[in-house]
Amino acid sequence: MGQVKINTWDLVGAYPVCGACGSSKVRRDAWAEWNMATREWELQNIFDDFCCDNCGLAGLPERKVDEEFRRKRIRRLNDALRHGQVKHGAIVITAGPQAKDEAFLGQATRAIAAIDMFSEDNDPHGEHDFGALDLEGEKLVWITSTAA
Ligand SMILES: [Zn+2]
Repeated sequence: MGQVKINTWDLVGAYPVCGACGSSKVRRDAWAEWNMATREWELQNIFDDFCCDNCGLAGLPERKVDEEFRRKRIRRLNDALRHGQVKHGAIVITAGPQAKDEAFLGQATRAIAAIDMFSEDNDPHGEHDFGALDLEGEKLVWITSTAA
């Protein structure tokens, strides 16, 4: 039997449910070890065994996705990137703005970070991932994208 490759990004907002009754009251066996330094139990491993507290099914759980949680998480990541608070993000500047001087790019970065007027009209998915602004007579468009 081959391994199933799971894109962890697809799991943002995902949670396990029982495949038989749909209950989210599911359990998996785990192994915890006492840590003398912290004086707490620390989770060491989670095993494959799964059981539904509602109907008693033993097997593999299915997944559901909490779309609102997922949207809010993506929105927080996009806002954090615009505000310069992401360690593992990358900013790509297209040739047009790149041809401008550092002062212009600094102004553009600050202007994009300051945007906080999102609505159904300019942000239909609620992810704060796109916008446009005018700066010194130039029309600028910005887009954020997340990747795993
Ligand atoms: Zn069940």
